[in-house]
Amino acid sequence: MGDITKKYRCCDHYEAILKIEDRVFCFPQAEALLVLRSAVLEHMYKYTQSQPSDNEAGGQLFSRNISENVIVVEEITGPYKKDDQSRTHWKPNKKQLIADRESMFSKGLHVVGLWHTHPEPIPHPSFIDRDTCEAHLRLLDSAYTGFLMLTLGNVGAPPNLSVYLSMRNEHSWKELIER
Ligand SMILES: [Zn+2]
Repeated sequence: MGDITKKYRCCDHYEAILKIEDRVFCFPQAEALLVLRSAVLEHMYKYTQSQPSDNEAGGQLFSRNISENVIVVEEITGPYKKDDQSRTHWKPNKKQLIADRESMFSKGLHVVGLWHTHPEPIPHPSFIDRDTCEAHLRLLDSAYTGFLMLTLGNVGAPPNLSVYLSMRNEHSWKELIER
């Protein structure tokens, strides 16, 4: 129970900055929050795999304030036609990933994670997703302590969304809890 109380206290503290369509996740064992802005979410929801013919889609997430207690994701990129896509697989185009990071960086935005869709109601990242997230983190500047992987399911209003964090020092893979 102690943890639950702490979680809600940490969320309530930042209530003022939130809008109703934003979604908020609490980082594990930390008084820190991830805020997904409504515009970012609306973009992602367009690619929900609600039809059997829909392929996986994905891209990157960007924030201005990566060292603070509230990480606000305010920009999103992808998917692109040159990504490698099927119903159960998504691999981004590497050149495009780098180009997007550079153009966002010039606007003061830093990559904080990847997002992608799954053709399942309760989205759960695969072992490959974890490997991908860890590989990205290894290649980033050592100032990055973690990197996120978002997985969007195909059911729910708003659609179910899972958020996992890969931590560099602990080699851990932990789920963020939606408040
Ligand atoms: Zn996946």
